[in-house]
Amino acid sequence: MTQTPLPVRTRSKAMLLSCSDPATLSLKELRYWHDKGLKIWRKQVPDLAGFSEQSGFSWLDIKLELARRLLASCNFCVHNCRVNRLNGETGYCRLDAQPRISGSYLHWGEEAPLSPTWAVFFSGCTMHCLYCHNWRETFDLAAGAVLNPEDLANTLLKQKSRYRTISLIGGTPEPQLHAIFELALALDPSVTAPLVFNSNATLSAEGLDLMEGVADIYLPDFKHGNDSCAWKLTKISDYLNTFCNNLNAYVQQGAAVLVRHLVVPGHLECCTRPVLEMLAKDYPGVAVNIMHQYRPMYKAADRPGLDRVLDRDEREQVALWVKELKLRTVA
Ligand code: SF4
Repeated sequence: MTQTPLPVRTRSKAMLLSCSDPATLSLKELRYWHDKGLKIWRKQVPDLAGFSEQSGFSWLDIKLELARRLLASCNFCVHNCRVNRLNGETGYCRLDAQPRISGSYLHWGEEAPLSPTWAVFFSGCTMHCLYCHNWRETFDLAAGAVLNPEDLANTLLKQKSRYRTISLIGGTPEPQLHAIFELALALDPSVTAPLVFNSNATLSAEGLDLMEGVADIYLPDFKHGNDSCAWKLTKISDYLNTFCNNLNAYVQQGAAVLVRHLVVPGHLECCTRPVLEMLAKDYPGVAVNIMHQYRPMYKAADRPGLDRVLDRDEREQVALWVKELKLRTVA
């Protein structure tokens, strides 16, 4: 009988390294041990049989300590603000070191293979979409609550028969790596539901390395097909490069990947078409969820062209492109 492989997150917790207590290590030493773990992981990620360093602290312990130290000069995402979040300083995401959530509950609205999920809605974001559908929860940080990862781990244990996956959503989860690792460490070993990193795909290079071995499934939003629209509508620069760097890393990590694309009215030729072409050409094995539920939320209601839902012609055009490009879709 073949055994179901453990989720990625569970295996990174089981991978022990012969280092001292991470709390006693310098930043340089933490990076050394994290890189050492990464090399071992990339060699033998499928199973830990024959793994020789079975004493000491886990690779996940090192990730947590390293993420906590990096908060003193935050580089979790591509904004690379280098602010000291431990001292209450804030960067683009406006978050200090305290992880904040707007809610955490059973959610049926994700793609069929992921639902039902236990969704953790993080406050704060690495983009500022003027059509944001969750803008109150995302940008009004005071309206959220401080997350206690241990309490959440207890809830996830009690509720484990009710959900198929655990989703880290927002906003976006990139600014919360320290909380995610604390949660992953606190989860009872019997909680083996895959961890879904549902994000803007804006992790920095170090953020990507840190998430490797923790996320079981990546679910990035591919928002725009060119840098100019991305800047005008979501206030991020160098968008395509950032998104593709993240997507390439997810694929290389060997994690499951599912891409989302929200069709924005009036942005079919400049954004939807190039997004679909890139996915078809460069990521043919990756499934995509084409979302037609755009609503003129947040600041979009006052923007001519963005102040409406998609019309029938636009929906039909996208369906024709999906067929022409032979994209694998999920809903
Ligand atoms: S998570 Fe990103 S946006 Fe937030 S402070 Fe760190 S580098 Fe800046």
